Amino acid sequence: MTEFCPRLEERLCRYAAVDTQSDEESPSSPSTAIQLTLARMLAEELTRIGAADVTVTDYGAVLATVPATAEGPVIGMLAHMDTAPAYHAAGVKPRVIRGYNGGEITYPDAPGLVNSPAANPYLGEKVGHDLITASGLTLLGADDKAGVAILMTLAEHLIANPQIPHGKLRIAFTPDEEIGRGVDARLPADLGADFAYTLDGGAVGEIEYESFSADGAKVKVKGVSTHPGTAKGKMVNALHLAAKIIEMLPQATQTPEVVEGREGFWHITNIAGTAAEVEFSIILRDFELEGLAARGALLQQVCAAVAATEPRAEITCTIRPQYRNMRYWLEKDMTPVELARKACRAEGIEPLSVPIRGGTDGSRLTEMGVPCPNIFTGMQDIHGPLEWVSVQDMGQATQVCLRLVQLAAKPV
Ligand SMILES: [Zn+2]
Repeated sequence: MTEFCPRLEERLCRYAAVDTQSDEESPSSPSTAIQLTLARMLAEELTRIGAADVTVTDYGAVLATVPATAEGPVIGMLAHMDTAPAYHAAGVKPRVIRGYNGGEITYPDAPGLVNSPAANPYLGEKVGHDLITASGLTLLGADDKAGVAILMTLAEHLIANPQIPHGKLRIAFTPDEEIGRGVDARLPADLGADFAYTLDGGAVGEIEYESFSADGAKVKVKGVSTHPGTAKGKMVNALHLAAKIIEMLPQATQTPEVVEGREGFWHITNIAGTAAEVEFSIILRDFELEGLAARGALLQQVCAAVAATEPRAEITCTIRPQYRNMRYWLEKDMTPVELARKACRAEGIEPLSVPIRGGTDGSRLTEMGVPCPNIFTGMQDIHGPLEWVSVQDMGQATQVCLRLVQLAAKPV
């Protein structure tokens, strides 16, 4: 139990109740206007606790400064405000399970829904902790409002205690991380940090500096549409061709359902269309750039092979880069990673670095020149109705950040 726990609990519950789900299909920035409700709330709160330079940018990020009390590098600290489009996120009703007893967790609004240490062993380690969950109908949004609560609490503590030596701190709450659009082109300059951290990790001790490299593919299949009654020799059904492409890709060995650890995958995320025209999206993930390129090449080959079977059809496959493994940059200078590890050890926590099977705002930020590893928050079972976080884990994350900023400051 740290002194921060009551504030962290109150903040997470308050932020989680605000719907901030992002939307991949939306072209606007931020992708959903509802995210601005939380953005304004956070800007107001930052002003109230005495942060400087509080702004909500055109692209929907909240930025603020905790002024330096000592010499040292400018450190950026980020958390994302949006919640995942993958599950219901409106009307979140956070509740606190005080002093968790180690048994099964049930949910007031979803009889039959159960979480347990058998399903998630990490839960078994949290006996006696205060856990926050949603009510069973929605995700909780601890991803990443736990990070937001931790940074707000850190900023409040540092501003209220100017005797604590630390360099300038830049806080950023970003929108649209879950749809891969959290880092606007203007963010690195607006942040103005020498290096940064995202507070967007899971179990206590996690200090991550490796993420997937990611590409996104859009496949368009144009057939020939005619009345089915008089289609002989004329119709080319785009749906059949799309099905063929999907069928030819390696499903049993290379989809998310069957891989883990350091293995990458291809994953079809949606398909829509008619006999005349079909469009589908595939995401490609691999820890290594060569592996990622090979996955893209395979998809192109499959599309070309199916196109060759039907010259009257038109099949295009466009692959766009999404984000890159931050290890490529961070391993050249491990200072930010080592600093976070040192802060963990100073708090009696053994740091742990596992590759993130996904990306963070830090993946993009690192690629854009601001080295940005990821620090744990405690969040678990994210993107679904079982999502939970331990208040005490959040307390430990706050302590690690507090230690980190002091370790980074130059001794006087
Ligand atoms: Zn997240």
